[in-house]
Amino acid sequence: MRLTLLGTGNSAGMPLYGCDCERCTTIRQFPEKKREHAAALLEVEGKKYLIDAGLMDLAERFPAGSLDGIFLTHFHPDHVQGLFHLRWGIGAKIPVFCPPDSTGCADLYKNSGILDFKLLKKFNSFDVHNLKITPLPLIHSKVNFGYLFEFNHQRIAYLTDTKGLPEKTQIYLEGMKLDLLVIDTSHPAGIEDLNHNNLNDSLLIQRNLGVKRTVLTHIGHDLDVWLSNNVNLLPENVNAGYDGIVIIPHM
Ligand SMILES: [Zn+2]
Ligand SMILES: [Zn+2]
Ligand SMILES: [Zn+2]
Repeated sequence: MRLTLLGTGNSAGMPLYGCDCERCTTIRQFPEKKREHAAALLEVEGKKYLIDAGLMDLAERFPAGSLDGIFLTHFHPDHVQGLFHLRWGIGAKIPVFCPPDSTGCADLYKNSGILDFKLLKKFNSFDVHNLKITPLPLIHSKVNFGYLFEFNHQRIAYLTDTKGLPEKTQIYLEGMKLDLLVIDTSHPAGIEDLNHNNLNDSLLIQRNLGVKRTVLTHIGHDLDVWLSNNVNLLPENVNAGYDGIVIIPHM
């Protein structure tokens, strides 16, 4: 399995619109430091799966026929906004696996076009080709699933957006010996948000689960600023994600 984080920003993105702090000014000078909205690419045996669809240029990045499926964590705009024009394309349908959210986002269900929404059930594992997927409930303001991906004895958990973990999800993952955890870390330590982890929340989760390697994502402005000065304070097996980072978990 090979995971590429394409968008590691929160709903505001980095640089922050209207902000002229030192960090945002630097990012405007060096656009490779930008943080786009939530999206990641999972590649398994030549198949390509998108996890979330927050990027607005999906059509350019993934020509027709190049995506084998999309896994949506939830229907907040920063995770689905790239689907609003993609749906009007022509050709083969794209399976879009998602939580059982009765409203979705705007008219995505009603006018789904080439998107074939498949509503999942929590903890109901299923296979797509040789990839095993388990949807895991999270704690957020909208119905939301994290995903456990298993292939060839490798295990990746992709958990965003969430504040802590529900007990059942925590217990399920404790037995899994994860090779890689990608986790919502929107805020620096000390900032409390009912819908998103701060750094201490994420470090507690990675310790409780005994994860080999952890990568932070959904990074908001203040955490980005903190990381730009303090990245060496993270534990050795915890990395700040960035747009374009390629992660190949080692067993
Ligand atoms: Zn989000
Ligand atoms: Zn700023
Ligand atoms: Zn959200």
